[in-house]
Amino acid sequence: MPTPRIEINIKKIAHNAKTLNRLYGSKGIDVIGVTKAVCGNPHVAAALVKNGISILADSRIANIRRMRNEGIQAEFLLLRTPLLSQAEAVVKYADISLNSELSVIKKLSKFALMNNTKHKIILMVELGDLREGVMPQNLDDSVKQILAMKGVELIGIGTNLACFGGIKPDEEKMVYLSLITKNIEEKFGITLKIISGGNSANYNWFLSITDVGRINNLRLGESIYLGCESLHRKPIPGLYTDAFTFVAEVIESKTKPSLPYGKISQNAFGEIPEFKDYGKIKRTILGVGLQDVLVSGLTPRKDFEIIGASSDHIIIDTSRLELSIGNELEFDLNYGALLSAMTSPYVLKKIEVNLWMPKSIAKALNRNTANI
Ligand SMILES: *Cc1c(COP(=O)(O)O)cnc(C)c1O
Repeated sequence: MPTPRIEINIKKIAHNAKTLNRLYGSKGIDVIGVTKAVCGNPHVAAALVKNGISILADSRIANIRRMRNEGIQAEFLLLRTPLLSQAEAVVKYADISLNSELSVIKKLSKFALMNNTKHKIILMVELGDLREGVMPQNLDDSVKQILAMKGVELIGIGTNLACFGGIKPDEEKMVYLSLITKNIEEKFGITLKIISGGNSANYNWFLSITDVGRINNLRLGESIYLGCESLHRKPIPGLYTDAFTFVAEVIESKTKPSLPYGKISQNAFGEIPEFKDYGKIKRTILGVGLQDVLVSGLTPRKDFEIIGASSDHIIIDTSRLELSIGNELEFDLNYGALLSAMTSPYVLKKIEVNLWMPKSIAKALNRNTANI
């Protein structure tokens, strides 16, 4: 089997999706399945839908188009605030989008009207993480203007925390979002259907409270794929944390010094590297590097250590392992490593076939899976 590859265990992902859907559903919260970490992979998308998730969200139109073309039956939501230049494609491929700019919403409305459809909008509210969102004091004005646009329907509001600024989605923030919801509804005499409180980082908040207020939706990626929450990266009980496996192959393995020798200057990345002297070690090279995966996000599943990496090599210390050239070694991936491996055209995506898979999906499987 070719390497490097990422092995995707669909059954484990399906189990995680079902378990999270039940857990959050127990307090009235719906789960949107976020597919950006898997590039809208149709096998994964089909597993999410099969396990009770009816809205799939991705940050890229290309991924949404891919899922649609593969026949995935879901509503599609565009996560990243649409590019103005992309408004037409957004209306064509996404049913819903998260938005924070009126000029963009106006353009979405225009293209929706031209196509005799209505595009659904979730307005993002800034609550302190300082990525996307309208400042709370400007919300009334935004809502007023959106309601006057004929091609869009304001179906909800949302917020995104713990992404850029590392701000916790705690009770204070969630209560505030509920309050904002109530104020908008009263002021404009409308009902907001979706109050989307955040992402995989909302797990601890969810466990700590009994009353979720008006929050009735979360957009989950990492906890479905890696089985952990994303504030402390602690495993969530009952979920698989090893649904993805990164596999690399040994191309050299020799006993060598641990300290480079000769006169030191810059390495391939313009840095002057520093090393400690551990005496002689078994240095093994894997035929995979930074062009394939974010190496700092890999964790070995066996007893060896990563010494470093360059664009096409990872160097590891395997003094405690017996290895031959051609052997495969496995790694766990964090979210960054998962994203990078799924987007690298050099990494084969190996998917476990499921019997329930629709025909169109099974057909896709037979295509070159290295093509993302
Ligand atoms: C990526 C993303 C998510 C999903 O985040 P996870 O931490 O993977 O659950 C949710 N909302 C938005 C806006 C995102 O960009």
